[in-house]
Amino acid sequence: MTLTLYVDGPRWRAHLASVAAGTPGLVPVVKGNGYGFGRALLAAEAERLDAPALAVGQPDEVADVRPHFRRDVLVMGPHLPGVDATPEPSDDVVRTVATLDGLRALAGHRVVVELTSSMHRFGLATAELDAAVDDLDQVRLEGFALHLPLEPFARGVVDEVSRAVGYLPTARGAAGRRMWVSHLGPGDIDTLRQRHVDVTFRVRVGTRLWLGDPAAAVVRATVLAVHRLRRGERYGYYQRRVSRDGWLVVVSGGTSHGIAMQAPGAAATARQRARSVAEGGLEAIGRALSPYRIGGARRWFAEPPHMQVSMLWLPGVEDPPAVGSELDVDVRATTTTPDRVQVSG
Ligand SMILES: *Cc1c(COP(=O)(O)O)cnc(C)c1O
Repeated sequence: MTLTLYVDGPRWRAHLASVAAGTPGLVPVVKGNGYGFGRALLAAEAERLDAPALAVGQPDEVADVRPHFRRDVLVMGPHLPGVDATPEPSDDVVRTVATLDGLRALAGHRVVVELTSSMHRFGLATAELDAAVDDLDQVRLEGFALHLPLEPFARGVVDEVSRAVGYLPTARGAAGRRMWVSHLGPGDIDTLRQRHVDVTFRVRVGTRLWLGDPAAAVVRATVLAVHRLRRGERYGYYQRRVSRDGWLVVVSGGTSHGIAMQAPGAAATARQRARSVAEGGLEAIGRALSPYRIGGARRWFAEPPHMQVSMLWLPGVEDPPAVGSELDVDVRATTTTPDRVQVSG
């Protein structure tokens, strides 16, 4: 009764290797739900890629990756005094600071200083950098960081990085010329490397690395039960009635896995909706499209997903899927927590 992420190991690893080869200074990002794969598994892959460092989102994620990755772990979430407890300094964990008081609180630590960017999430203003010269002497500086908006929304990010490079304090050795960047494409990085030959770029990549080849990892659910319902029969928590005969298909995967109701919005979805209305009658109105595919098409939830299972509605006489068979599920891996990850090869 599980939701499974099936990974085509050889194909996935070939993709990871090609991203690594095209991205010198790659720092794999392993955070949150581990992009659906789990943090431990990704940390082991980062080790195989010989990455110089691995980046996690927050301090409590270090423990999961540490047994699998030998080199430096960067915590990207900035240390915020007054919000976070002050950590112990560590020789193999690099912290991020994004405020002057954060920088002061981490005297003696290995530290990356995040600079403000067009993201406006976290970051020290360049003016504050001038005021931070003495405080920079108190930390083991590992470089500066810029977190940039996503392609294709980013505008002029290459020049934005160049401006930040222009503000870097001088005479700080190699670490003072090291920039940790997020969300720059390979072309932009090449341009920057040519422009700033004395700067070492560390490129933090998550989604493009782990999920860049969608066919390499697919989520599948199991059909757990199939019930024939006659027009007018009631079903489910909400005891709704079906307006025609059809199949109620109970499948694995629910809210605890991140299976959610999705508003039908895209054009393809509108077409599906129209088709479903045509096939299922007006009952399709008011239902939500599910991410589960039967016979190639996404199907309607019979009612909102339950905690570990979901109920789909298959109107008409179409053959239902067999109990025990598996269905493809179109879910965003970053919001899905499968029960099981199976890597082939
Ligand atoms: C999450 C995160 C990344 C990685 O983002 P992807 O879109 O998954 O590549 C990079 N940098 C920072 C600061 C992040 O928080």
